[in-house]
Amino acid sequence: MSGAILRDDADFVVVGSGAGGATAARWLAAAGASVILVEEGDWPQATGPDGYDLAVRYIRKGTSTFARGGDSIAMIAGKAVGGSTAFGYGVFARLPERIWSDWSQLDPAWARRIPFAELDSACDAIEAEWSVQRTPRELLGTAGSVLSRAFAGRADATWRAVSGCQGAGRCATGCPNNALQSADKVVVPLAQKLGARLHTHCRVDKILVKAQRTEGVRGRCADGRPFEFRCKKAVFLGAGAVGTTALLLRSGLPAQGHGLHVHVLATIAARMRAPCSRPVAGTSLQSLAFRNEGTEISATVLPERAAAALLPGVGHTLEQRLANLDHIATWTASVRTHARGTVSHGLLGTRVDYPLQVVDRKRILSVLTQLCQALFAQGAAEVFPQVAGIDDVLTNPEQCQALAGAAGNPGQIPLQAIHHFGGLHSDDRCQVPGITGLVLADASALPASTGVAPQLTIASYAIAAVKRWV
Ligand SMILES: Cc1cc2nc3c(=O)[nH]c(=O)nc-3n(C[C@H](O)[C@H](O)[C@H](O)COP(=O)(O)OP(=O)(O)OC[C@H]3O[C@@H](n4cnc5c(N)ncnc54)[C@H](O)[C@@H]3O)c2cc1C
Repeated sequence: MSGAILRDDADFVVVGSGAGGATAARWLAAAGASVILVEEGDWPQATGPDGYDLAVRYIRKGTSTFARGGDSIAMIAGKAVGGSTAFGYGVFARLPERIWSDWSQLDPAWARRIPFAELDSACDAIEAEWSVQRTPRELLGTAGSVLSRAFAGRADATWRAVSGCQGAGRCATGCPNNALQSADKVVVPLAQKLGARLHTHCRVDKILVKAQRTEGVRGRCADGRPFEFRCKKAVFLGAGAVGTTALLLRSGLPAQGHGLHVHVLATIAARMRAPCSRPVAGTSLQSLAFRNEGTEISATVLPERAAAALLPGVGHTLEQRLANLDHIATWTASVRTHARGTVSHGLLGTRVDYPLQVVDRKRILSVLTQLCQALFAQGAAEVFPQVAGIDDVLTNPEQCQALAGAAGNPGQIPLQAIHHFGGLHSDDRCQVPGITGLVLADASALPASTGVAPQLTIASYAIAAVKRWV
């Protein structure tokens, strides 16, 4: 169905309502500007009994779902009000200064423009608004406590955006107690209260630029109706690292597209001898042991159906494991890669290529080996490494060596990427170089990965971008 063109205009148009876009809209509106916030997705709402539909319905589908390049990397991003924060774990971490120093080597001009102190000082206001607090001991859960013992003195409770967490363990699938704080719960409503106008179900297809000056955006609503939103001052891009790059390329505007950086996530599951799933915060504990090496380990509670998918076996054996889902501990390793990927746009839409380097795969295998050993040391009955060419089920610590010795061939390890960074260039007003009034306000603008959970850094960068306009 299509109809009359939907029109609106304001000082600023913000594309995307995730960590970056929602924050930009909120702070632009707070400064008294008129703001239109455009979001392709809908307000997220879990309807099924375990909330699993939340994760399924609001995950972006399309050609960028899997990154090509030999490795199987599921690129997971949200398509909803709140963006990817709507089904995140709510973990907050401040950008380590050493990562900002890495960025200043990569892009000295960026670092001169966005000093570490500015990013860091914006965190106070964001943390207060999102109710960020440390996960209390009683919500670490057995899996978290096991991780804590395994990396004694080198593991720490996560800091999370929660209000009244009761340990339902369902952060990523719609907290039944409404405790998890995400951009759709906190920031978008605040932006609206401050006067921002939200248009949901509206996908921006093109950025309108005339004589190197941004005039607005054009696209189509989910019901087929075209829309055009005009800006007096600027368009802020908050469509995510892949989405913003793709939108620039679709609009025929300058975007390097080859600076994509991600954390790859490998998950290892184990059957513990005692129940370990509830009560627990979704991501309860992180090991700082590996942080300086660019890797974070977390004790994570997955939605039951996702945890079930990690279990090997058939028939009675599988049935037994499924019956004991509450004994399954899942630890994830989030690895900062050496590889860089590419976002491109062609006839079939957006394409992501992310060929890992051998050193990346070796690093992942080395971390998985250590996790496997740690799980056995903490009394795991079975460990399920999920690495092609290695036994599905390990039952003693000696078998872990097979992981360390694995070839690390492309595609051998199933991986996910939920933290994406664009590495796009920008000028001293955070604009796309050469285009007046086109501002990068999301993870697309970060020179490389944060090495830690990124939403806080993305939000603080968005505030820095706003400050250069109001
Ligand atoms: C399952 C999962 C768990 C996570 N857990 C955590 C966590 O615990 N802690 C943490 O720090 N980070 C977490 N992250 C990562 C974090 O959510 C993201 O890094 C962050 O939200 C990215 O912010 P962004 O603004 O760049 O993009 P997003 O938050 O992804 O927002 C982009 C928005 O733009 C919209 N959009 C895209 N294209 C268009 C278009 N053409 N027109 C209109 N709208 C468009 C999208 O629908 C989306 O709403 C998690 C991510 C996932 C997927």
